[in-house]
Amino acid sequence: MSNPEKRFIYLDHSATTPIDPRVVRKMTEVLTEKWGNPSSLHQKGREAKIVLEEAREKIASMLACNSESITFTSGGTEADNLAVFGVMFHAEKHGKGKHLITSAVEHSAIAKSAAYLEKEGFQITRLPVDSKGFVDPDELRSAIKIDTVLVSIMHVNNEIGTIQPIGEMARICAEREILFHTDAVQSFGKIPLDVSELPIDLVSLSSHKIYGPKGVGAIYIRPGVELLPRTYGGGQEKDIRTGTENLPGIAGFGEAVAICSSEIVTENSRLEILRNQLLKLVMENIEGEVIVNGDLENRLGANLNLSFPAIEGESMLRSLDLDGIAASSGSACSSGSAKPSSVLLALGLDERTAQSSLRLSLGRSTTESDIKYTAERICYHANRLMALAF
Ligand SMILES: *Cc1c(COP(=O)(O)O)cnc(C)c1O
Repeated sequence: MSNPEKRFIYLDHSATTPIDPRVVRKMTEVLTEKWGNPSSLHQKGREAKIVLEEAREKIASMLACNSESITFTSGGTEADNLAVFGVMFHAEKHGKGKHLITSAVEHSAIAKSAAYLEKEGFQITRLPVDSKGFVDPDELRSAIKIDTVLVSIMHVNNEIGTIQPIGEMARICAEREILFHTDAVQSFGKIPLDVSELPIDLVSLSSHKIYGPKGVGAIYIRPGVELLPRTYGGGQEKDIRTGTENLPGIAGFGEAVAICSSEIVTENSRLEILRNQLLKLVMENIEGEVIVNGDLENRLGANLNLSFPAIEGESMLRSLDLDGIAASSGSACSSGSAKPSSVLLALGLDERTAQSSLRLSLGRSTTESDIKYTAERICYHANRLMALAF
């Protein structure tokens, strides 16, 4: 009965994005024609090397850095791991300290790396967040110790879209000569991040959150920052991340970034208007309680995260899926498990409310008509499921 028109509305862009057809064209060209090894000295190799360096330039220009500071990785996860382990193991080896500061709302690529280090005898401080999801820069200031090596705080949260005050926190670290890393996977290409203006030392990036292919990402490393590599081999990527480069993936990533840069001023505000419209329609037409998780001001335009305290998040998700609407009940990695989101718990939500959450992340294909249909279906199911719950 539901979704008779067989509509499909994708509102899970924070989990991954559909690949842009222009990116596919670029990748196809590289796969079929520019298949050389960028390390080879002959014509095919030189041609491939040009493709590699063009992509690097595009990513560097988005961050306002020199292309030599960009190292390609297999994605955001590897970039995060390289930043945390690379810097901490290097510091340990040189007797520079074993203290890492991070936050309670990081992606698991940071959170689990920190947990591993803790087991290995490193000291970890996890800064709490307030009820809107923000880390307080003053708390960072007081958490810094004599042996603090690195601070890793994400730019935009993947579940609630909160934009952290990373500029202020990076400056606090710079004053104390402590390295500052940010996981910018959710913000890159969507809101500006300029490492020529902010004293950020390391930045993690991923391609598949910005309409590029999966399995490719990059890390920005400020010149002079030292880290131990995690891979050993032929010396590619200045030995920071060796191995023959994923050239089609990298070329696709570069193309995806170039497309984002052409719309960075307009797209976030377009999505913000649609997001606010969705929120307003839901608030006006729902009978029970709805909570907006996170802040509405300092937030990525594309993100909406709601809790319906009387409803199981999974039931809402399944009902929407039958209507052709793809959303999420938290991060893609934690949904599917029965555990409530650690990010929502860090905001102070109780387990039940955290489990009743729905994340809607808008993207390039989202239209006003999608928003109206989605709001109508959310309210329909919320009102129906709430009636069942009592
Ligand atoms: C998706 C994501 C990652 C992981 O990136 P992959 O390229 O999927 O490995 C890391 N951090 C954040 C905030 C993310 O949203």
